[in-house]
Amino acid sequence: MNTNLQTPINYLKGVGPNRADLLRSELGIHTYQDLINLFPNRYIDRTRYYKINELQLNNAEVQIIGKITKVEEVGQARKKRLVATFKDDSGIMELVWFRGHKWIREYLKFDEQYVIFGKVNWFNGRYNMPHPEMELLEEHEKNLRSAMQPIYPSTEKLSNKGVTNNTICKIMQQLFLETKGKFTETLSANLLSELKLISKNKALFNIHFPKSQALLSKAQYRLKFEELFYIQLQLIIKNLIHKTKIKGFPFTTVGHYFNTFFKEHLPFELTNAQKRVIKEIRQDLGSNAQMNRLLQGDVGSGKTIVALMSMFIALDNDFQACLMAPTEILSVQHYNGLYDLCNKLNISIKILTGSTKTLERRKIHESLENGELQILIGTHALLEDKVKFKNLGLAIIDEQHRFGVAQRSKLWKKNMSPPHILVMTATPIPRTLAMSIYGDLDISIIDELPPGRKDIKTVHRYDNNRLKVFAFIRDEISKGRQVYIVYPLIQESEKMDYKDLIDGYASIERDFPKPKYQVSIVHGKMKAADKDYEMQRFVKGETQIMVATTVIEVGVDVPNASVMIIESAERFGLSQLHQLRGRVGRGAEQSYCILMTGHKLSHDSRTRLETMVRTNDGFEIAEVDLRLRGPGDIMGTQQSGVLNLKIADIVKDNDILQHARFYAKKILKDDPTLTKPENKTLLFTYKQLSKYKNIWNYIS
Ligand code: ADP
Ligand code: MG
Repeated sequence: MNTNLQTPINYLKGVGPNRADLLRSELGIHTYQDLINLFPNRYIDRTRYYKINELQLNNAEVQIIGKITKVEEVGQARKKRLVATFKDDSGIMELVWFRGHKWIREYLKFDEQYVIFGKVNWFNGRYNMPHPEMELLEEHEKNLRSAMQPIYPSTEKLSNKGVTNNTICKIMQQLFLETKGKFTETLSANLLSELKLISKNKALFNIHFPKSQALLSKAQYRLKFEELFYIQLQLIIKNLIHKTKIKGFPFTTVGHYFNTFFKEHLPFELTNAQKRVIKEIRQDLGSNAQMNRLLQGDVGSGKTIVALMSMFIALDNDFQACLMAPTEILSVQHYNGLYDLCNKLNISIKILTGSTKTLERRKIHESLENGELQILIGTHALLEDKVKFKNLGLAIIDEQHRFGVAQRSKLWKKNMSPPHILVMTATPIPRTLAMSIYGDLDISIIDELPPGRKDIKTVHRYDNNRLKVFAFIRDEISKGRQVYIVYPLIQESEKMDYKDLIDGYASIERDFPKPKYQVSIVHGKMKAADKDYEMQRFVKGETQIMVATTVIEVGVDVPNASVMIIESAERFGLSQLHQLRGRVGRGAEQSYCILMTGHKLSHDSRTRLETMVRTNDGFEIAEVDLRLRGPGDIMGTQQSGVLNLKIADIVKDNDILQHARFYAKKILKDDPTLTKPENKTLLFTYKQLSKYKNIWNYIS
């Protein structure tokens, strides 16, 4: 009989209550099942033994056979450490422990052969190995081991309490003994044969005890595929349910507003990407299902016009539409940009923000409820309970990363029936990530910039070159251009950042004196009205320089601005840098982005700066960002559940992901409820998985 894999881990021989506690708290291992799914991070070659005189600093991890000849505590108080002298026939080195002294002292044996394993450092003229893994040679030889030794995830606490990688390997062996290595197959026979995947049993065995590199690769492939396949299956099923359960308003006519605008008032020829995306949206809006679409397009790719034309479709069907932006400045900008176009078509459009006066506010509420007002632009203010629409048909959210899920679902509840939702983002999400997270959402991508745009020339300059940079600014201004100078403002160090900004402003005013030069300043501590005033001066071209914190990060459109200087650029994230750079290069002129930093830069900062200098492609930048920060950080904690992958890597395993998605789609197309006999295994596993993990709801 099969051992029940839901058995609590403390029942496993060799685990016991203390270790069980540690496994639970440190690695989240509660059951046999959890242990089986603790996959090694990597494997190392343990067939090779080094001699101490062979060691080099660039050795990754090495194993050495030798004896301990001396143990002593060195250093005072917090610097106290335990140092053992370790000898083989070629030389002497040290083993060092910074914690867990007592336990280690009791356990160490003198003059017995040990096999030690770990990374080596060079310190005080000698090699040392901090916190080595060790095993008596006698024991070591008894253990069956393959050339590829798995290295399991661990934590400091685990190693301090003596639960080493070896311990994990041993209890894993025990688990395979007790279960006889027999586990329930989780993929269908069809998939196994079509994709030539190895069985679950073989995969699990070889992931933990690889017999050869070839089998290990097969095991990894099979398990990664399985993991990604079930995520895709869940996402696609969710999407299908959504489409059948949640009825939208079918916008069946594309009529007067859309057509008149298209024929008579389009300010420029649409790019092919814009046309394609509008078509996708039209199709969605015309169907019976509620649209839930993400529109991705790099900064400046022209999402606004797409939003406007989508709103026209809603209006053509006698529905209202709204456009929500994360900041007041942006809302105003949208409003100003769209007002004239709407006016030409006799469309009523209003703006509602935190600073809208009570009287105007009341008027807006009224005309929204009686249906006179057709389009409402605004900030979070749109979400207030008092804001009620007569019939909201389409809600558009600009720059979605600024809004939380809760806020989006609030919009969603503004009607009896949910409006169609279009979320626009200028932060390209790498395709792989989008597919895993937004697999349940439809995605449109504008992957083409309007014609005539020149790549923004980007350079990295050190602070001591500031004078040259200023000379360059003067040149550009003399050609009639405008310049942004942006300072970081990061919450924790807000006071200091604020001071930097004000100091920066003062020095710029000194170097660019009035009346020849006019400088605007905008930062988060200013009143909305003052910000707006300063912003408007810059927009109108009355000031040549805009000194700002990241308030201008999102969406402001000043085509005449051709230079973006980013101060302390090393402190910005890649997507932020890219967003900021997108503020220039909107006109016909060659634009520039200058990244200013000091000389001291971390490896990651350097990579970020180099990436910015190398490319203007938002998707490429997003990929680097993903590699640097990992998916959890990029998408925030809400999504980390989905991304809590056990074996697959969302960046590296893109190909497998595509495969998994392809097959999940194919199977569901043929059998949406997974009720055909050949899909029995899939349905069973799917249900099991749904029981244990809940995937994040995009809009719940
Ligand atoms: P984003 O995608 O960053 O929101 P916008 O919609 O603000 O971009 O568009 C950026 C600029 O490009 C605007 O000035 C807009 O008028 C212009 N634009 C958009 N589409 C086109 C096009 N097809 N041809 C020329 N200019 C365009
Ligand atoms: Mg925009």
